[in-house]
Amino acid sequence: MAPAAKSPSAGRRPRSSPSSVDGRVRDVLVVGGGPGGASCAYWLADAGWDVAVVERKQFPREKTCGDGLTPRSVRQLTDMGLAGALAGAHRYRGLRSCAYGMTVEMLWPQHPSFPDVGYVITRHDLDQLVAERATKAGAELLQATEAAEPLFDPTARDHPAAPGQLPACTGAVVVDRTTRKTREIRARYVVVADGANSRFGRALGATRDRSYPLGMALRGYFRSPRHDDEFIESHLDIRDPLGRVVPGYGWIFPLGDGRVNAGVGLLSCEGRFKGVNTSHLMNAFVDFAPKSWGLSPRSACGPPTGGKLPMGMSVAPRTGPTTLVVGDAAGAISPFNGEGIAYGYETGRLAAACLGRALAGEGAAALDDYERQLQDAYGLYYQVARDFVHMISHPKVMEACVRLGMHSETVMGWLLRIMGNLLKVDERGAAENAYSVLATVAKAVPGL
Ligand SMILES: Cc1cc2nc3c(=O)[nH]c(=O)nc-3n(C[C@H](O)[C@H](O)[C@H](O)COP(=O)(O)OP(=O)(O)OC[C@H]3O[C@@H](n4cnc5c(N)ncnc54)[C@H](O)[C@@H]3O)c2cc1C
Repeated sequence: MAPAAKSPSAGRRPRSSPSSVDGRVRDVLVVGGGPGGASCAYWLADAGWDVAVVERKQFPREKTCGDGLTPRSVRQLTDMGLAGALAGAHRYRGLRSCAYGMTVEMLWPQHPSFPDVGYVITRHDLDQLVAERATKAGAELLQATEAAEPLFDPTARDHPAAPGQLPACTGAVVVDRTTRKTREIRARYVVVADGANSRFGRALGATRDRSYPLGMALRGYFRSPRHDDEFIESHLDIRDPLGRVVPGYGWIFPLGDGRVNAGVGLLSCEGRFKGVNTSHLMNAFVDFAPKSWGLSPRSACGPPTGGKLPMGMSVAPRTGPTTLVVGDAAGAISPFNGEGIAYGYETGRLAAACLGRALAGEGAAALDDYERQLQDAYGLYYQVARDFVHMISHPKVMEACVRLGMHSETVMGWLLRIMGNLLKVDERGAAENAYSVLATVAKAVPGL
């Protein structure tokens, strides 16, 4: 189970460390300026290291997302000094779950390490805030600049990567998307933070294990009379065109600016549900959502957009002698609830701490520690989550579990804490216990 967020530090740059100038070798090159890349850059820059971030888009930019920040994300943003910047965003108190005509409202729990509030803020605004925070701390942000291909250590042929490791990467060939000019950026260490499609990561040899669950989601903005609701809402009984309950959920997240973000997410296990069309699912959800939200084709602010959600640490390898992979590029989204922003911030921060140690003199051994820290922080939680997803990918089991939960506020309260990864240290066995209960329910479902 993930511990209450530790506060890893990226160390302090020693005064004797050589400074790098443009065109010279930087301490760290970060590929991608979303949550994973921007947090990594922030923590490295804050510690005084010379870090450059290349981001293929120009901020502010759209990013397809549900825009929901849980207490885990709020904690990370607060640690980066951004609590004040969130003040203008829509603050909400908890989750309202709806299924089979029942509704349960749950407040975010009191926790010693996490606040009991969340926010909904567009990624258009949020990602710019965090990228600006990183540059204020001293990171160099090169926007509209795409890392086209990795540069490799020329001596790597003599020292091939160990099995299960990425090869030694020493920078990237980058393209200025405005001028189309190409140049090389070299660095002692490289962080891959290029999101769910992760072309750069794949060029290095990181691949997604297809036996792990994969999410597919679609979202749109709608004008809504309930744009400032105090709860985010999830619907756990979304159905495919054949009327079967599918493993996934529909959501409505109020933005507080006249709009809500509404969408559907579907979990695919071993190719099951591949045939389900998310656009049809989205249309059905807009039709099915409580009328009080005012969702309709007429209140839509534009066509919905979608994306993949690589989950459960499904991408590997995640380390090499000079390289670390963070966020969606590492498949770090929670299979329980599709949350990935917090895990982008957290894995970016863990990577920064290991890189800080490597730069301070520990070298490549400190990078190996990144994988150990990921396992400590998320290994058990993601294992339970992956098993859970495999189990609920059977429609009948999904229905039995949802019905069980919806009949008990206590069960739903536990599920909120487990799925949000918000258990206290002394509650860590609860996830496995809850899983055992659900597994028992699953076995009792006839016809399986
Ligand atoms: C429909 C949908 C809804 C979601 N809803 C939520 C939600 O409500 N809450 C939540 O917590 N999570 C949600 N997620 C997941 C969340 O969006 C991701 O987990 C999160 O964005 C991961 O951050 P990241 O930094 O790893 O990747 P990204 O946010 O994808 O950032 C990667 C960045 O890298 C840049 N890039 C890519 N390639 C290159 C390159 N070659 N060179 C330079 N730059 C490059 C991209 O432009 C991008 O800015 C949702 C996802 C989807 C698809």
